[in-house]
Amino acid sequence: MKAGDIVTCPHCGERTVVKLGKKFSGWQVCGEVLTCALCSAELGMPEKAKSDSSARDKLAALLGGDETEHVSLAPGEEYRRGCRNCAHRLEHPFKMLCGLTRSEVEPMHVCPEFRDREEKGK
Ligand SMILES: [Zn+2]
Repeated sequence: MKAGDIVTCPHCGERTVVKLGKKFSGWQVCGEVLTCALCSAELGMPEKAKSDSSARDKLAALLGGDETEHVSLAPGEEYRRGCRNCAHRLEHPFKMLCGLTRSEVEPMHVCPEFRDREEKGK
């Protein structure tokens, strides 16, 4: 039971809304208590542990917890297949030139003649 639930009050027998109220010990507030909105009878203590764990689940989900799907950000094979990593690329300070076509290329252009420059020496 929690505040806002619709229950049948065991004290007045009516369908009522559970209210969260303050529990007093004399004039001192000593905790929270669930009460009937109609007759104000005590219905029990709020389920603290349960709400805490659901809040923790939500936080875990926000932080990429177990309930969220993990997405790999590692680039795939295709990522490397750009002229940027190609063995045919010519070193040039301002442009990227292809040694095969002798023309300017885009760093991420995927070329059928691609050869991985890191595997050139192998
Ligand atoms: Zn009641």
